[in-house]
Amino acid sequence: MLNTTNTTADGHVKLFIPGPVEVSDKTFRAFCHPQIGHRGSEFSSLYEAIHPRLQTMFGTAGPVYLSTSSAWGVMEGSIRNLVQKKVLNCMCGAFSDKWLDVSRRCGKEAEGLRVEWGDPILPEMVEATLSQGGFDAITLIHNETSTGVLNPLADIAAVVKKFPEVMFIVDSVSSFSTMPIPMDELGIDVLLTGSQKALAMPPGLSLLGVSERARERAAATPGRGYYFDFIEFHKNWEKFMTPSTPTTGHIWALQSKLDDIFGEGLEARHARHEKLNRMVSDWVGANGFEHFAREGFRSKSLVCVKNNRDIDVAAFCSALKKKHRVAINGGYGKIKGTTFRISNMGDESEATITELLGWMTGCLPA
Ligand SMILES: *Cc1c(COP(=O)(O)O)cnc(C)c1O
Repeated sequence: MLNTTNTTADGHVKLFIPGPVEVSDKTFRAFCHPQIGHRGSEFSSLYEAIHPRLQTMFGTAGPVYLSTSSAWGVMEGSIRNLVQKKVLNCMCGAFSDKWLDVSRRCGKEAEGLRVEWGDPILPEMVEATLSQGGFDAITLIHNETSTGVLNPLADIAAVVKKFPEVMFIVDSVSSFSTMPIPMDELGIDVLLTGSQKALAMPPGLSLLGVSERARERAAATPGRGYYFDFIEFHKNWEKFMTPSTPTTGHIWALQSKLDDIFGEGLEARHARHEKLNRMVSDWVGANGFEHFAREGFRSKSLVCVKNNRDIDVAAFCSALKKKHRVAINGGYGKIKGTTFRISNMGDESEATITELLGWMTGCLPA
């Protein structure tokens, strides 16, 4: 039987990990729409109906494509479509580090711009590296989910604009909809996000805005394959369709989620994320912890806590799960145990975050 409850009554462990995040009953109900054919008018009407709101959220007058894949599909696809010479992969955590490996696995020439985990990518570093020449694309993860670093996107965008040959590929998986990201204004060529993090939907859908010049680059790039071919996406988008059979359940869920988002109002949604994030940050200081991410470059959608008190993070997480049926994350990759992370993405409220923080305090060692 499908479990569609997000209450603690049935023993479900509510997710406060930075993805996937908790999915509301309303979103699940929308997901369970009866199956429709994806080549009929019901599908194209659905896509057409949600598209203007997607454009508003992406800050673009251009197309927003829907990909039946997790974000990595379109992260890889962006490389395959846009890189002809060499890509610069900005590396500041687990997800951004992996993008270099993915670029190379696609057979592309790729170079990493590396900083220590916890540090941001700075515009002057990008400028110095791109100035060496030879690059025709750059990847940046706006909000590095593993470290809680929010990179200075607007400042980096201003630098990338000075290099007209360089396509600007931005991952907003854990920041999309939590703060404004004006794609066209910033000169972003691909802005991509996934369904299961900031959008609080089940995993399996990604969304991407693609600029006209990126489409022109793609048309001239060999070996871009079929499934993630931007040209295929575009041809189908012109009829409000997708290249292959889409995950229609997600698109019904997305429509419902857009109703929620625009019902709340974008500005109110951004302010809510800022407020909830501040509540978690305040808890960090009040309990003798520090942030893992450098001050001034901290995420608004999650907090990565540095375990400077040297608590048993695994025991802390497991006490929260056992006593209160909630999950936080005990650190990602090489910072497992030396950090822990709390998400304030999606549908969380002052009430749910207050409750969580109270439980966290109660589960800390004396
Ligand atoms: C989770 C995450 C991804 C990968 O998403 P998948 O859904 O696993 O493909 C990529 N980038 C960021 C910033 C993420 O947080």
